[in-house]
This record gives sequence, C-alpha cells and structure tokens, in this order.
Amino acid sequence: MAEHDLMEKLVSLAKRRGYVFQSSEIYGGTGSVWDYGPLGVELKRNVKEAWWRTMVHERDDIEGLDAAILMHPRVWEASGHVANFTDPLVECKNCHRRYRVDILLAETGAAELDAARCLACGKTGTWTEPRQFNLMFKTFIGPVEEESSVVYLRPETAQGIYVNFLNVQTTARQRVPFGIAQIGKAFRNEITPGNFTFRTREFEQMEMQFFVEPGSDAEWFERWRESRLNWMRDVVGLASNRLRYHPHEKLAHYASAAGDIEFFFGGTIGDEGWGEIEGIHNRTDFDLGRHQEYSGKRLEYIDPGTQKRYLPYIIETSAGADRVTLAVLADAYREEEVEGETRVVLGIKPSLAPLKVGVFPLVKKDGMPERATAIHEELRRQGIPSFYDEAGAIGRRYRRQDEAGTPFGITIDGETTEKGTVTVRDRDTMQQERIAEDRIVEYVRERVK
Ligand code: ATP
Repeated sequence: MAEHDLMEKLVSLAKRRGYVFQSSEIYGGTGSVWDYGPLGVELKRNVKEAWWRTMVHERDDIEGLDAAILMHPRVWEASGHVANFTDPLVECKNCHRRYRVDILLAETGAAELDAARCLACGKTGTWTEPRQFNLMFKTFIGPVEEESSVVYLRPETAQGIYVNFLNVQTTARQRVPFGIAQIGKAFRNEITPGNFTFRTREFEQMEMQFFVEPGSDAEWFERWRESRLNWMRDVVGLASNRLRYHPHEKLAHYASAAGDIEFFFGGTIGDEGWGEIEGIHNRTDFDLGRHQEYSGKRLEYIDPGTQKRYLPYIIETSAGADRVTLAVLADAYREEEVEGETRVVLGIKPSLAPLKVGVFPLVKKDGMPERATAIHEELRRQGIPSFYDEAGAIGRRYRRQDEAGTPFGITIDGETTEKGTVTVRDRDTMQQERIAEDRIVEYVRERVK
C-alpha cells in the first residue's frame, strides 16, 4: 500500500467502524476538528490511562493535576504567548488560501517561498509578505465584550502546572526533584490544520513538568527523553523502526535543550512523513521566573536539608493524546490477502484495544445465543469490554472485529453445550484454540495485560 493512501484509508475505516467522525458533519463538517465515536473514545481513553498509570500511579515523585482551561490573562503575558506564540502566515494572492510558511515549504518541497506552489490553485510564487499570526483563541469573561474582559483558551496545559507549582509541592509534601502531570484540552487557531487528527484546532495534551535543581537538568533531560521514547515503544506498542528522536536545531525562547519524539506517518505529515508526537524540553527557570516576576509572588523552592532557596529548572514532556492515538491507528492498520480476499486488520496492542473480545454464537439456534449472551455478560461484569454479534456468517463477524481491532473472538458452538468448551480466535494469527468456558475470563485477562 502506498503510504500516501494510508491517511485516506484510515479516515474511511475510522468513520466506518466508529472511531472518528468529522465534527458537525451534518452541516458540512469542519476540516479542523474531529469527534471520537464509540471505539475512538475508548482507544483514546486507554492511551491516556496508560500515560497516567506510567507517569502518576506508578511513581512516588509525580503528582496529578487538573487545572482550568480559562486562566488569568496575565498568565499568557508572563508565559510569552501573547508576544511570541505566532506562526508566519502567507496568503496566495490568486485564490486567497492561507498557509503557515514552514508547513507550505515542507508540503511542496520548495526551498523558498518564491518557489512554492499554492496547493489550492496551483499558482507559483504569488504570495503576500509573511506576517506573524497569534494562534491563541480569544474570548470574553462576563457579559461585556471589552479588552479588560478578554481571556484566552489555553494553547497548552503547562501553564496551569507552573502557577500551581507551590500549591502542589507543599500540599503533597514533595521535594525537588518531582513532577506534576496533567491531561487536558488545548486550543490553537492553526493556520493550516489538516492530516486528519494530526493537526487540529482543539486537541488534548498529556503534559508532565519535572522540577529539578539547576545543574541536574541536563541529566534529567536525558532520562526523560529515553523513558518517553521507551514508553511509546513498550507501552503504546509503536514499531521501533517508525519511532525516532529528533533534536531541535532552533530552540524556543524558553528552552536550553529540546527535541521531538517522532513517528513515521508517511504522506505529507511533518518532515518526509515523520511527525512530532511528543516534545521534550529543558525550559530552564524561564517559566517560574516569569510568573514570579509578573505575579509578584515568590515561587522559590526551599531545600529542607540545606535551606538553599532557588527556582527549579523544568524538564517538560509534552505529548498529544490525539497524535499518539493516530499513531496507534496508523501503526496498526494493515491489509492482507486471505483466501483471495483482502482482510483489513487493526493490529492494536490488546491492552489498548477498545474492545477486547467479540462473542459469537455459531448459529442462532440450539441454545447458542443464550449461552453466548451469558458469556458476554459475564465478561462485561468482570470489566472486560466485549461485543456480542449474532448477525451474518461467522467469517463476516470475524472480519468486522478484525477491522475494529478486537484481539479475540470467542465462538460458541455445538461442543460448548456438550463439553463446556469454546473456540478462541486470535485476530493477528487467525489461529483458533479450544478452551474451557470457565477459563475465558482468566485467558483474556492474561493476554490483554
Ligand atoms: P507542531 O510543530 O507540529 O505545530 P508544536 O511543536 O507546536 O507542534 P508542542 O507545542 O510541542 O507542539 O505541543 C506538544 C504536543 O502537543 C505535540 O507533540 C503534539 O502531539 C500536540 N499538538 C500540538 N499542536 C497540535 C495540534 N494542532 N493538533 C494536535 N496535536 C497537537
């Protein structure tokens, strides 16, 4: 399959199986926001829960937080977003389509703007002068629309963490080094959204800010870089040959070291198909320093051993829940020839798959539907997401679950009533084995861990 077809195929499969729908589709939709359907919401939740488990529940040195989306407007002056959170924008003079300059160059392969062809009308070099465009969405708090009541929709979750640094540190009785983790929505008025859920105007971030003593920051940066890359491979299950770490050549105003974990999506995403799914940044003491200055409140940490006062340095790990979910889908999608037919499979890691089991009575008689329903209900009672399907030929039912990414199919047949056994079919190998009915829960639990 050519890689540029992949995104198109994913969009179509995602819609067909209830993973992702275009937002406001009945009104013609918008290209820049998407809705997660019944299976998509489960997959994304599983990604977020896996992140939370690794970052918060399995560690003593990271605390969770859920800060509000609307923050004091001074936050965004202190953070530098009002002045600097801009992208260079150009407009095609012929058809008035707007682009972010770096994305236009990457997508057209042009070395400079004059050589770039408009992707909408095909004209070359008919560009307005680039101008800086701020990506923050503005809205108003209270009933009056005036400058003094302007608030922004947060373009990143990180600032909610910085302003709560001392609240969390003192109440959780943490000592530096420690971290604060948060999952939540962020909004950016992207000039060129696109590539399905890769670049949208509303998205979710999974961010962790790790506070360290200055001098130990370079070492912590390395540790986080390595551990986040391992997480993508070992916990999310992304193929290691589609993952890489890419250091930034140009650093943002707040960073002393930075790089991205990239996944190979193919097509027009990122740098020849490699797109950022998580950023790792050494933000120094820039953020706490600025908030201290703008708020007039001391944000220093006092080391209880040495009584030394200092502003901790921050190592940030910032992943997109939507981009990681898209990477899971892109990595999992495959087509195979099986007995002269194309089989579409989403080989999602069982621990992340939305449904773990499909339960199928072989035929709709001889007590099989009743027996299958009882198994299905028991699985659900045990907290194992299961789907009951008695419609159509068994082969078609298997194929539907292959496309949905369901790792196991359990079929109830004549032998179930006679001997109390069922067949379990593996989504990836299509191999079947017989197991005792009373072992099903244990069997599935073992394999979806
Ligand atoms: P890009 O260069 O692709 O615009 P960025 O460098 O601005 O991304 P960060 O500010 O580092 O991204 O954001 C951290 C993470 O948030 C990214 O790795 C990505 O997973 C996610 N993210 C950022 N912007 C978007 C978006 N418009 N849509 C979906 N996810 C996004």
